[in-house]
Formats: sequence, structure tokens, C-alpha cells
Amino acid sequence: MTAVVAIALVASGVLGWLLLAPAWQRRRRALRMAEPLPDGARAAIDRNVPAATRLPAGLRTRLDGLVNAFVAEKEFVGCNGLAVTDEMRATIAALACLLVLGRRGHYDELHSILVYPTAFWVEDEVEDEAGVVEQRRRVLSGEAWEASRIILSWEDVLEAARFPGEGYNVALHEFAHYLDAEGLGLGGSPRPLAGWADEIAGEFESLLDTVDRGGYTFLDPYAAEDEAEFFAVATEDFFERPRDLLAAHARLYGLLQEFYGLDPARWTSQGVPAPA
Ligand SMILES: [Zn+2]
Repeated sequence: MTAVVAIALVASGVLGWLLLAPAWQRRRRALRMAEPLPDGARAAIDRNVPAATRLPAGLRTRLDGLVNAFVAEKEFVGCNGLAVTDEMRATIAALACLLVLGRRGHYDELHSILVYPTAFWVEDEVEDEAGVVEQRRRVLSGEAWEASRIILSWEDVLEAARFPGEGYNVALHEFAHYLDAEGLGLGGSPRPLAGWADEIAGEFESLLDTVDRGGYTFLDPYAAEDEAEFFAVATEDFFERPRDLLAAHARLYGLLQEFYGLDPARWTSQGVPAPA
């Protein structure tokens, strides 16, 4: 902090701080985004985030900058004895930032990413139809219920890299929940266009019909749970196997393209050939 700024802060008090802080944050973020990504972080992303290796050069540069800013701004907390490494930070940041490559917004309300070594237990209370409240214990690979934190199992984050193209990616899933909740009013960006929510609800209904008939679904049937799960599961497919999603559900692909401002079915750079 320079002396001039310090004096200005003392003079103008807390209100001045509140007004100045966002501009500083924007400036600091711009500087971080302009820095090159450390080699180790880049190698980790190439290894663990297949979608990032397909990005056109311009978007890859933007992703690298977003990762720098995300790693600097967010707190990564190791749980159950896990020591968080630079590889974990870079991988999780890249997955989070893939989702905002073509959008405004940087998870401003998000403060911490809690990383467990493997799947973790959560306990909550559920009320049955008779109003009886029961303690419930569930094992999860990720959770995004709060604006300030996201919880991930590192073992499950790596599954996506071990089985690329299968449409499973817990980190993309949880960060998609986060963005979805932001759009619903937790503090962020509105949905892209009026009518968008109705159209995606229509896609959800058609999935429900297929599940009810016992038919084959391209999306994991878990997507039929509710609209939030539908959006999160479809997001996984949008980034993990975009061409397959486009072929199976062109309208849904188009809606996600609109939401994310990206067209991953066309990402073929870095020597990855386009399908015949
Ligand atoms: Zn979910």
C-alpha cells in the first residue's frame, strides 16, 4: 500500500475502503491474469484436464490467466490429513475456470475449496412425509451447497483424466452447480436470455419421459433427479464429450453453448484431429 493511498484510507474511513477495494481487486486480478502460468501448473493441467489440451490458443492463454488469479484468490484447504499440492490447485482451478472462459464472473463469492483425499461422509437431516426428521449419512465425491465453499474428493477429480471422454467430471459438476445457483440469485449473473430456463426445463422433461419409459439416455440417468442435477450432468458432457452431446442432443448443446459462451465441439487444436 502506498503512503498516499494509506492516507486517503485514513481520511475517508471505511466507506472509502469499500469504494476503493473493488478497483484494486480488479487491477490485481488483471496483473495476475497477465502472468504466465508456472511450468509445473501447466503440465498438471495438460495431464489432468483433457478439455484444456483441446482449447484454441487464445482461449488457452485466457484459461492460464484465470488459473493464476483463481489460485491466488481462493483458499485451498486439505481435509482428512491431505496436504494440498500445486498440482491439485492448478487442476481444480483449471476445471473451475473452464466454465467461465466465455462468461463474465469469477466465483467472486467463493472463498475456499475443501479437498478430501477420497470420497467423504456428510451428515444431514431429512424429513419424511410424516414429518419425522432423521439423521442421514451419505458418502459424496463433491458438494456445492454454499456460496463460500466447494468440497471435492481429489481421487474423484482425477477420475475424469483417467477415463476421458466418458462424460464424468465431479469438479465440473460441482462448479456448474455453483454457477447455476449464482444465476438463481445467490449473487451473480442472470441467465443468458429470457426463455432459456423454459427451454432447458423442456429438455429436462424429455429426459424424464425417456427415463419413465425405461429408455436409453445419453446423459447419466442421475440427471433425472431434478433440474439442478440435469444442468450439472449436462455440463459434464458439454465439456468432456461435446461432439457426442451435440450429436445426441443438439438443442441441449445449443442451450449450454449459450450459457457458457463456448463451442467445445469445435475445439480441435493441439493436434487433436476432428472426427471423420
Ligand atoms: Zn449434483
